[in-house]
Amino acid sequence: AADLCASPYRSRVGSLRAVRAEPSSSVAPVGGRKAAAVQAEMVEAAAMWCAMHGLVVGDRGNPRSGTVPDRVSLDGKFLQGSLSRTKQVDDFTARLLEIHAKMMAVNKKEDIRLGLHRSDYMLDSETNSLLQIELNTISTSFPGLGSLVSELHRSSLNQYGEVLGLDSERIPRNWAAIQFAEALGKAWVEYNNESAVVMMVVQAEERNMYDQYWLINHLKESHGVMTIRKTLAQVEAEGLVLPDGTLVLDGRPVAVVYFRAGYAPTDYPSEVEWSARLLIEQSSAIKCPSISYHLVGTKKIQQELAKPSVLERFLDNEEDIAKLRKCFAGLWSLDNEEIVKSAIEKPDLFVLKPQREGGGNNLYGHDLRETLIRLKNEQGEALAAYILMQRIFPRASLTQLVQGGVCFEELSISELGIFGSYLRNKDKVVINNQCGYLMRTKVSSSNEGGVAAGFAVLDSILLT
Ligand code: ADP
Ligand code: MG
Ligand code: MG
Repeated sequence: AADLCASPYRSRVGSLRAVRAEPSSSVAPVGGRKAAAVQAEMVEAAAMWCAMHGLVVGDRGNPRSGTVPDRVSLDGKFLQGSLSRTKQVDDFTARLLEIHAKMMAVNKKEDIRLGLHRSDYMLDSETNSLLQIELNTISTSFPGLGSLVSELHRSSLNQYGEVLGLDSERIPRNWAAIQFAEALGKAWVEYNNESAVVMMVVQAEERNMYDQYWLINHLKESHGVMTIRKTLAQVEAEGLVLPDGTLVLDGRPVAVVYFRAGYAPTDYPSEVEWSARLLIEQSSAIKCPSISYHLVGTKKIQQELAKPSVLERFLDNEEDIAKLRKCFAGLWSLDNEEIVKSAIEKPDLFVLKPQREGGGNNLYGHDLRETLIRLKNEQGEALAAYILMQRIFPRASLTQLVQGGVCFEELSISELGIFGSYLRNKDKVVINNQCGYLMRTKVSSSNEGGVAAGFAVLDSILLT
């Protein structure tokens, strides 16, 4: 779409699953016309729609371009204990834990807590159940573009639905951007300072800024709240915390710090960035996420929660516990020698995960086997940096994917993310809601799934 969308924009969108064609579709007539002709027309119309509606990312080639979710994060001992071995071998997690420990030591109060999360699932073809891939608690992306893709597909089907025999109304409405902005807006209200702003912490080089600007836009238009964008380095250079805890930037108090950076080691190239993260944590600004929410999103905590009797520590209701467990895939720590042995024997049935975010970090197949053998031979604590997960195999189907305005037909699988927002002020839960969805579709032969990382395309759901 580069040539259709105004430079320096680029669109990357998936196609409707149900619009998939049979292998012979390129010649089969659709509604009296050649399928290929209809497809070409649809791709062009879709690319145009994307440019007109801001469903775009920056062009890499162009530099201009309830109470439940809270319980684990409140259990500081559980977080520190579960991650204690990881800490010894993973410097990044160790730094996060260090900030967390400092906050525990001063008994830091966080009256207002805001979480903007996304829980991701794949449909396991064997059991036909949705199994959780992970829970994202920091820098949860695509509330903006994800909602737009549903609108794009609805618009495509309004025009071509009859020809294709598909009803646009079967695409569920997706209000993720509006609802995330609403949660940020309500958090701002709870902070209760008219002159305060929301601060979005961003990467210096960001391609997904349009996704972020959708939230900034809704915040301003619907809630009258101003957002400033700062990198961690800028926060360190320009920010200060007043004696009463108020975080001040650009001369204005900051009500909410919304992290769209800070989740990866590369976001902390020097001590400057770590000192900014600590400064934010020490302030009274609402952090989305707080350091403890951030840690709850680690793969290690996901694996600990899946161990027998651990959910019982956080939930009383047996039915709730059973429902949650049903979504858990097999998860193991690497001190389980039997599992490590099975994974070396049958690497294709597992995924090896370090404590990282943002896609592209997991190990599969041959790499998984080699890494396990190497880490085992090293003996020390090296294995503690990883967890093992049962590999989920969703059923693949033939799909038409559009990338850069070019349509490919491939066997693909999808990953469904459910956005959720959570806002609490002391004992009052202000919001605890699901907020729409993100569908990502990728070629089934690719292991990883990130859209921003270039492995997947954005997609929609069509209910049948
Ligand atoms: P990240 O935090 O980097 O997004 P994920 O756990 O989501 O880490 O893994 C990245 C991608 O790897 C997922 O989007 C998915 O495509 C694939 N993946 C992760 N876990 C599994 C699994 N258990 N089975 C199959 N694919 C997986
Ligand atoms: Mg993640
Ligand atoms: Mg993920």
